Amino acid sequence: MIGDTIAAVSTPLGEGGIGIVRLSGPDSVPIVEPLFRPADGIPLSEAPTHTLRYGHIVSEGRTLDEVLVALMRSPRSYTREDVVEIDCHGGIVAVRSVLDAVLKMGARLAGPGEFTKRAFLNGRISLDQAQAVLDVVRAKTPLGLEAALDRLDGRFSAAIGEIREEIAGLLADIEVGIDFPDFDIDLGRLLEPLVRLEKRVSSLLARAEDGRRVREGLTVAIVGRPNVGKSTLLNAILAEERAIVTPIPGTTRDTVEGETDIGGVPVRLIDTAGLREPDDPVEAEGVRRAREAVARSDLLLLVLDRSEPLTGEDRSLISRDWGVPVVLVLNKADLPARIGDLPYGRWDEVSVSAERGDGIDRLRMIVLDLLLGGRVPARNTILLIDAWERDLLRRMKAYLFRGIEAIVGKKSADMVAEELRAAYRTSGELQGIDVSESILDSVFSRFCVGK
Ligand code: GDP
Repeated sequence: MIGDTIAAVSTPLGEGGIGIVRLSGPDSVPIVEPLFRPADGIPLSEAPTHTLRYGHIVSEGRTLDEVLVALMRSPRSYTREDVVEIDCHGGIVAVRSVLDAVLKMGARLAGPGEFTKRAFLNGRISLDQAQAVLDVVRAKTPLGLEAALDRLDGRFSAAIGEIREEIAGLLADIEVGIDFPDFDIDLGRLLEPLVRLEKRVSSLLARAEDGRRVREGLTVAIVGRPNVGKSTLLNAILAEERAIVTPIPGTTRDTVEGETDIGGVPVRLIDTAGLREPDDPVEAEGVRRAREAVARSDLLLLVLDRSEPLTGEDRSLISRDWGVPVVLVLNKADLPARIGDLPYGRWDEVSVSAERGDGIDRLRMIVLDLLLGGRVPARNTILLIDAWERDLLRRMKAYLFRGIEAIVGKKSADMVAEELRAAYRTSGELQGIDVSESILDSVFSRFCVGK
C-alpha cells in the first residue's frame, strides 16, 4: 500500500565497491535517524533537504558501515515522497546489513519497480515515462538508449494526448447533432480529419515496430557444413564493430555467439557449429541445440565454401525450407572459385573472404535490408512502447477505421459516435488515465527490485 515506507538495495548486487540502500515514504527519516551517527552531529530530521551527510550506520551497538546519507524531502524527490539514500562503502555484506537494519526499524522491502510505481502513482511521471526508465536501464545499443531517453521526455504520451483531443473535438461535433436532431450535421465533414487521425495512429504503430527491434534485437544464425568458415565469418562480423559495441566479457576468437550492432539494432549472432561439441558422445544434443538456435532466429547466413565444388550436404542445406530469410554467403573468395552454379536462385548471395574481411560490409548491408526493409531506424522516428500499448494502438486504429467505414457507408451519427467513443477510451488507457491494475502490475513487475 502506498503510505508505508519501502526500502531496497538500488545498485546491482555484486562485488561492486559501492552500494546504495534507498528508502521512500513518510517514515524514511524517522527510520534512518536512530541508525545514523552523522559526523557533524546534526540529526537527520533537522538537516536541510538535498544534502549529503557523512557518518556511520550503527545498529544495536555495532557499527555496520561508513556511509554518505542523501536526504531528499517530498515533493522534490524521485517518488515525490521523502527519500533517504544510504551510500555504503563496505561491499555487499555491509549493504545487506544496512538494509536489514532499516527493515528492522519498520521499512518494508520494496517489490520490483516499486519506487518507479510510486513516482507514477504520485503523478511525477506518466506510465509511459515509467516504462522509459526501464528501457534506459536495459538499453543495449547507443540508439536504444537515445530512444529511451526521448521516451522519458514523454513524447509518446504527448502524441497520444493530441490524438485524444482531436477525437474529443470530432466527438463533440457529432454529439451536438445527436442531442439536437434539428441541428443537421454533415458527417462527411468528419471524413478527412478521421482519415488523418487513422494515418497518424498507423505511423505510430510502424515506429513502434522499429522500437521493438531496437529494444529486443534480432537473432542471426550461421549455418553450413563443417570447415566452410562459419566461425571465421562470425569473428569477421564481430571484429568490424568491436570498437563501438560494448565488449561482452569472455569473448575470444572462439566465440560461438556474439552481439553486434547493425544500423543501431542489436543483433545476436549464433554460430551453430560452435553448438556442436565433437567430443560430446551425445552428438544428437548438439544437433538439437543447433536446430533450436535456427528456430529462434530472424535470419540465416548459410555459408558455402566457394573454393570447392558443392557437396550433397550443401545442396540439402540450400534446398531446405528454413521459414526465415536466408543469405547465401560464398566464402573464401580469396581462393579460385570451383563451386560452379548454384541450384536455386531464390536467396540473396554475397561473396566474402571471412579471413581477409572482404565483402563483410556488403553482407551487413544485405542483412540490414532483409531485417529492417533497408530502413535504418533513426533516433527521431523510433518509438519504444510495450506489447500492451501496441495492442491498444492497434485497437484504436481499428475503431477509427470503423468510424470511417460508418461514414462512408452512410450509417447513423450514433454508430460513428460509438466508434469514436471507443477510440477515445483507448487513448485514455494509453495515457495511463484508465489503466487497469493488472496492466500496472505487468508493467512494474518487469523492473528489478530497487528501481
Ligand atoms: P567452420 O567449421 O565452418 O566454423 O570453419 P572455420 O571458420 O573453422 O574455418 C575452416 C577453415 O577455413 C580454417 O582453416 C579457416 O582458416 C579457413 N577459412 C575460413 N575463411 C576463409 C577465407 O575467407 N579464405 C580462406 N582462404 N580460408 C578461410
